[in-house]
Amino acid sequence: MQAVYSNRYQIDLGLHVFPTAKYRLIAERLSQRPDITFVEPEPATWAEMALVHTADYLAKMRDGTLGETEVDQLELPWSAEMVEGFRLMVGGTIQAALIATGLEGTSFKSQGGLSLETSDFRVACHIGGGLHHAFPNHGEGFCPFNDVAVAARVLQDRGLARIAIIDLDVHHGNGTAFIFESDPRVFTLSMHQQHNYPVWKPRSTLDVGLPDGAHDATYLRELERALPQAMAHRPQCVFFLAGADPYEDDQLGGLRLTRDGLQQRDRMVIETVRTAGVPLVVTLAGGYARRLDDTVSIHAATIEEAAGAA
Ligand SMILES: [Zn+2]
Repeated sequence: MQAVYSNRYQIDLGLHVFPTAKYRLIAERLSQRPDITFVEPEPATWAEMALVHTADYLAKMRDGTLGETEVDQLELPWSAEMVEGFRLMVGGTIQAALIATGLEGTSFKSQGGLSLETSDFRVACHIGGGLHHAFPNHGEGFCPFNDVAVAARVLQDRGLARIAIIDLDVHHGNGTAFIFESDPRVFTLSMHQQHNYPVWKPRSTLDVGLPDGAHDATYLRELERALPQAMAHRPQCVFFLAGADPYEDDQLGGLRLTRDGLQQRDRMVIETVRTAGVPLVVTLAGGYARRLDDTVSIHAATIEEAAGAA
């Protein structure tokens, strides 16, 4: 299985609850596995980013001319390194999507003979991404650009219109829901803690807002009910945002899932998509455990689960 990763994802944010070191630590943890091949991404082009984001917002990000309230809303200090690191990360999700769908190295015009009618399950992981709070015209909650939305638009550009986004970060996928609200070709599923950030939750195709402290059993039961609805959309590619922040010791989440519960979650998603024979793209999304090592272990376990299914 191919895993997209760059050590440039570790961005200096000063003292911050978002541990960008996690990307490197996960990659190191997985580096000895013979069944995982690491792929270095190319940055997304500004034209690709413009498939989702407004020209005005991209110009402000590029030139460092965001207003004070915009920086406050993004909750990240602006720097050229930050912008370039996240632009690279958008490219990483695009790369993983092209690998999973077998569209790598093709353009819209050259893919005429390509067939996805194969029973071989293809999965690619991105040790990064899942920046679901980014909207077309602004960034929010540590998410400057919406990598999954951009990658979905790139796939649509290349002829794969029907897409499902399964967002299991503890926080609602507000940016993603907003972006695809009026695109019936994209099924957005967000399963999240209802009484948590963000306050305003634009409607996903399917929102499952869970109570505080839902714990494993409730969570897995709800997921089992939700997944068939996403698959009934007959997606040609599934994006999975495997947030580590539903974890019981997360500083920003309150769903209180155990490590075992999270592993069962991953297995359920991967098995469902694998059984349907649909290409799967795994991204990490959030993770803010008190102990960084827990976040790293949860994310690494997700990727190992995917590699085992490949
Ligand atoms: Zn989150």
